[in-house]
Amino acid sequence: MFPGPLGMSLAGRALNEGRWRCDPLQIRDFATDRHRSVDDTPAGGGAGMVLRADVVAAAIDHAAATAPDLPLIAMTPRGRPLSQARVRALAAGPGVTLLCGRFEGFDERLFEARAIEEVSIGDYVLSGGEMGALVLLDACIRLLPGVMGAASSGDEESFESGLLEYPHYTRPQMWEGRTIPEVLRSGDHARIAAWRKSKAETDTRLRRPDLWERHEGARVQPPSGAR
Ligand code: SAM
Repeated sequence: MFPGPLGMSLAGRALNEGRWRCDPLQIRDFATDRHRSVDDTPAGGGAGMVLRADVVAAAIDHAAATAPDLPLIAMTPRGRPLSQARVRALAAGPGVTLLCGRFEGFDERLFEARAIEEVSIGDYVLSGGEMGALVLLDACIRLLPGVMGAASSGDEESFESGLLEYPHYTRPQMWEGRTIPEVLRSGDHARIAAWRKSKAETDTRLRRPDLWERHEGARVQPPSGAR
């Protein structure tokens, strides 16, 4: 599954240029029985299988010994929702160890015994953590130096300032009776910037009232140290 789709396009080019790399570990390689079992039936009964703490911990400890001091993130539906701020911080850091679940998930004792941050990519259930890990990696990789090129730093994009991004247009100027807004053709950079800011604010307020509320809340906070 790795690098999977990250071997193509922007991330794939960056991979070939050595801007990032991925060292997948197979949890099954850390099983100790002759069937190479990684899971067992849930204590207390019920459907599905649970990933064993001892086997997963052996994989985690191996990863920590090979690549020390990396944050350890488990992909879980109950984890903290992935945010652009967390992605930015990870992209600026030394790398990350990602733990991908399967079946019903991990034996809970794993979270007590190891320092694990849990991250969710949204309120829905995937069949495995790999897709979530690919999402997280893609979001980080595009922010690595040199990946998007000098033309785009990505810092105007959705969520960077707490708002959704303004809408985009390109040629043809007239399409199915619809024109590009006049201001974008005016060449007046101040007016364009004001229009984009206003659009970003309106779109955020209408489409994502939760983001808008947080953005407005942050704006009315006094600067730190002012109290
Ligand atoms: N029994 C779990 C529950 O109800 O919360 C779902 C387990 S899911 C079938 C198997 C694995 O997929 C999880 O251990 C996790 O690694 C991954 N996964 C599923 N949904 C996810 C999400 N929204 N975000 C991150 N990882 C997810």
